[in-house]
Amino acid sequence: MSTHYDAIILGAGPAGFTAGIYLARSKRRVLIIDQSTAGGQPIFTHKIANYPGLPEVHGYELAFALKKQAQDFGCDLETNVEITSMELTGPVKRVELDGEDVYEAPSLIVATGGMPRSLGIGSEEDFKARGISYCATCDGDFYTDKDIVVVGGGNTALEEAVSLTRYARSVTILHVLNEFQAFPQAVEEARANPKIRFIMEAEVTAFEGDERLGRVRYLDHASGEEVVLETDGVFIFIGYVPNTAPFASTLDLSPRGEILADEDMATNVAGVYVAGDVRQKRYRQLTTAVADGTIAALATIEYLDRQAANRTSNQSQSQAPIDSQDHAPTLT
Ligand SMILES: Cc1cc2nc3c(=O)[nH]c(=O)nc-3n(C[C@H](O)[C@H](O)[C@H](O)COP(=O)(O)OP(=O)(O)OC[C@H]3O[C@@H](n4cnc5c(N)ncnc54)[C@H](O)[C@@H]3O)c2cc1C
Repeated sequence: MSTHYDAIILGAGPAGFTAGIYLARSKRRVLIIDQSTAGGQPIFTHKIANYPGLPEVHGYELAFALKKQAQDFGCDLETNVEITSMELTGPVKRVELDGEDVYEAPSLIVATGGMPRSLGIGSEEDFKARGISYCATCDGDFYTDKDIVVVGGGNTALEEAVSLTRYARSVTILHVLNEFQAFPQAVEEARANPKIRFIMEAEVTAFEGDERLGRVRYLDHASGEEVVLETDGVFIFIGYVPNTAPFASTLDLSPRGEILADEDMATNVAGVYVAGDVRQKRYRQLTTAVADGTIAALATIEYLDRQAANRTSNQSQSQAPIDSQDHAPTLT
């Protein structure tokens, strides 16, 4: 037995909840599914200072408010479930949860987000939001006049290092290789900045501190020695991991595995839309995620309306007397 909705949303983060709020307010039946706890990345965020209208909000407060708003408008929610099978390409999208419950809808929005790639060092977890950050726009301001470290050597690392010099007294870039992977312009801009210094062939091995991060330990590959660097904070920019594995065989993805979409958030599959950090885009913020969720929902509503209009027109054609069908205009 399957349960029917107008739209299924995969991912109960800011993008998914926003899409749900818009769809439910337009009287569509909506199911939001999350493989984990509802809320998305804000749950891991201590303090959010750049969400317009909420100058200082804790991540879990925002997550809870989004969830409540979506449910109050009538969205159904399934959390901590496993998607055991999924069919997206036909006119009816079908999702099976935990090998038993089946849900169907003519439209589906993928809002499964992603996570900044971490170094995977045990001590990294301990200092997340206590000296380790993955977002210059979100946390740069907290490091005004501080001495900080940036880990990474790609475009994002160098561009964000430059942007962090607006706040920090000094920025030390630690890069594991002996050259950067970033575009030459990004390297030049960083090299021209007097607040930035570079330590190449430096492999971060540990983060240390008490309540907050105080030191980074790295292996200097040139000398083979381990070095300890005092710091007020570390920003890690070594890539982003979008949660797209379940869609790899169906949806068009960028080389980095992000879902490709047009400006209405439509994917290559009719009736399947995407929203938030999981799609290919340059800026990943709460505001961009909720904007995507809005657009995906509005485009989905139009799609559902078009489907309904097509059904009505097909029905009236099949019920029309043979005569009138004979006199339908023909294209020449
Ligand atoms: C530590 C940290 C601090 C940040 N601070 C700020 C800040 O201060 N300001 C700001 O603007 N932005 C900040 N961001 C970025 C912001 O949180 C994200 O841009 C935003 O949460 C993206 O929303 P989303 O809904 O697209 O994805 P997410 O928040 O990632 O939500 C996606 C949801 O989908 C679920 N999911 C994943 N895979 C599946 C699947 N297969 N099926 C079903 N569900 C699935 C996940 O469990 C998750 O709940 C921060 C991010 C981090 C990690």
